[in-house]
Amino acid sequence: MHAAIAGAGIMGRLLAWRLVRAGWRVSLFDRDPPEGGGAAAYTAAGMLAPWAEVESAEPLIHRVGLCGLALWPELLAELDTDGDFHARGSLVVAHAGDRADYRRFADVLAARLSGGEHCRRLQGAALAALEPELGDRFSEALYLPGEAWLDPLVVMAALARALRGAGVSWQRAEVTGVGAGYVAAAGVRHDCDWAFDCRGLGARGEMPGLRGVRGEVIRLHAPEVTLRHVVRLVHPRYRLYVVPRRGGEFVIGATQIESDDQGPITVRSALELLSAAYSLHPGFAEARVQATDANCRPAFDDNLPRLLVTPGLMRINGLFRHGFLLAPALAEAALARLEGGAPASCAELFIEEVPA
Ligand SMILES: Cc1cc2nc3c(=O)[nH]c(=O)nc-3n(C[C@H](O)[C@H](O)[C@H](O)COP(=O)(O)OP(=O)(O)OC[C@H]3O[C@@H](n4cnc5c(N)ncnc54)[C@H](O)[C@@H]3O)c2cc1C
Repeated sequence: MHAAIAGAGIMGRLLAWRLVRAGWRVSLFDRDPPEGGGAAAYTAAGMLAPWAEVESAEPLIHRVGLCGLALWPELLAELDTDGDFHARGSLVVAHAGDRADYRRFADVLAARLSGGEHCRRLQGAALAALEPELGDRFSEALYLPGEAWLDPLVVMAALARALRGAGVSWQRAEVTGVGAGYVAAAGVRHDCDWAFDCRGLGARGEMPGLRGVRGEVIRLHAPEVTLRHVVRLVHPRYRLYVVPRRGGEFVIGATQIESDDQGPITVRSALELLSAAYSLHPGFAEARVQATDANCRPAFDDNLPRLLVTPGLMRINGLFRHGFLLAPALAEAALARLEGGAPASCAELFIEEVPA
């Protein structure tokens, strides 16, 4: 079977990998080179956070997210990379002025999660023992021990290497159309058994209701900060977080703005993100700003993904804040739908059969 995939973001690459592993011949089309470009995947913080996201996302995101998270270690082994993957869990803290929002966050998680072991309340000494550099500034935290994170840049590069090594035909071209059994790119129609549209926001013309949700991040080099967990800081406007990377680097993110503007970060957002980082840990005062980045998350109005299927064509989109969390499970569901196997996760609930 021959698959043609439009879009080599995280969804397109993971789907390509899954299909290759299942014996398909795969052609991949993207306007950008394999090493980088405008995919939202390059801006993502790479958090795999099915528990923290319960606060703002549908319960199905939590369930499918658990499947996605469980698939990552094996995927990274197949791709021969460590992915800068860490499964040490995340912490949620708040300053005194945001205690009411923090309590609401904790109450929502307690109400929506069964059993307390996935969301523990840490006080004073327990917090200081787990994350010493927060112990003297915060008296309490929520600890979500099952959560993990990875570095999207490392994973995207590993996927590109593995796909090329596996003989995937990678074509750098603007895709102008995707239909049942074909992808049209740079004026040429490429026929295939199944076409897949994984163009994220680039598919907006053919996917009514798809919108962009702007997110901005700042990458810092802060050798004086040794946080070992993802730390979320409850904030009245955004879901702010600090994600450790190797080499003393941290990603500070992210704004969430109803706009498809992909222009550079605004002064206001930079001030808010940097102030939040500094208020979390004064060691960020001497950090070096390595880069700022802004992009748009592809989302439908309910912020849930869709796998729209007509014979010969599958469109997978709307991964919103959860592309890295959900994509492994979505790729499994896509393959199960194509090959008639038993669904491996509840991601098949996102499949909609659409008349040709
Ligand atoms: C600030 C921010 C933080 C985030 N943090 C996280 C996080 O911590 N955890 C998480 O799970 N998710 C996170 N996300 C979400 C995640 O990045 C997205 O859900 C994911 O990237 C969507 O994947 P995709 O493959 O559908 O789209 P994309 O990654 O955007 O890829 C689409 C690809 O299609 C190509 N393309 C588009 N149109 C065309 C065309 N006409 N011709 C050729 N090629 C085309 C593009 O070049 C691109 O390579 C974050 C996103 C943002 C913006």
